[in-house]
Amino acid sequence: MADIRSRLHAVRDQIASHARACARGPEGVRLVAVSKTRPATDVAQALEAGQRDFGENYLQEALPKIEALANRGAVWHYIGRIQSNKTRELAAAFDWVQTVDRLKVAQRLDAQRSPDMLPLNICLQVNIDREPQKAGTLPEDVPALAAAASRLPRLRLRGLMAIPAATGDPARQRTSFSALRELFERLRTDGLELDTLSMGMSGDLAAAITEGSTMVRVGTAIFGPRG
Ligand SMILES: *Cc1c(COP(=O)(O)O)cnc(C)c1O
Repeated sequence: MADIRSRLHAVRDQIASHARACARGPEGVRLVAVSKTRPATDVAQALEAGQRDFGENYLQEALPKIEALANRGAVWHYIGRIQSNKTRELAAAFDWVQTVDRLKVAQRLDAQRSPDMLPLNICLQVNIDREPQKAGTLPEDVPALAAAASRLPRLRLRGLMAIPAATGDPARQRTSFSALRELFERLRTDGLELDTLSMGMSGDLAAAITEGSTMVRVGTAIFGPRG
């Protein structure tokens, strides 16, 4: 029971020390607690420990949790694969959708986001290591997609997200993160007002923060191993 609180504090300490090690402030790295497969009671414990941002991968699993925890200040991020016939539910339930990787999905989210709600925050998911099985836009296609998505009025394009090829080698982790950061900086130079570089998970936090991550997505290190 006290475990989620203490692991959350440990992760926050880790983020702060990685940030300090590269002369960044810890407040520049936002923590998304990835609560996929965890019951709403676990999310409630994290909320009570001060955590606000939560990430979910599966719509059908997320919806009842979002409903059960309504009005408690949670900010919900969708970080799973997007089926285009599910965009209406995503647009209604989430604050962020981090895995937009094609224009059709962006257009549907824009059309379906209620005018009574704030614009939906989105990130474009980039297949930064060009893995055939992985979701995400290829790096060379990002500028055109970003330009088009940034013009959709019910969306607010915040930045880029990636899940690099799995490796325990910090040098290779940094190469992938650095490529994503360069793409992000190029878009900003081109005039897009982006503030979010969503990269880094339990196993590669240090490399991601060193390379400029502004948002890390951590599941296991907060909630324990997934069963
Ligand atoms: C599951 C998941 C995470 C969290 O992974 P952990 O290894 O549990 O920290 C982060 N991002 C995405 C997109 C995920 O699917």
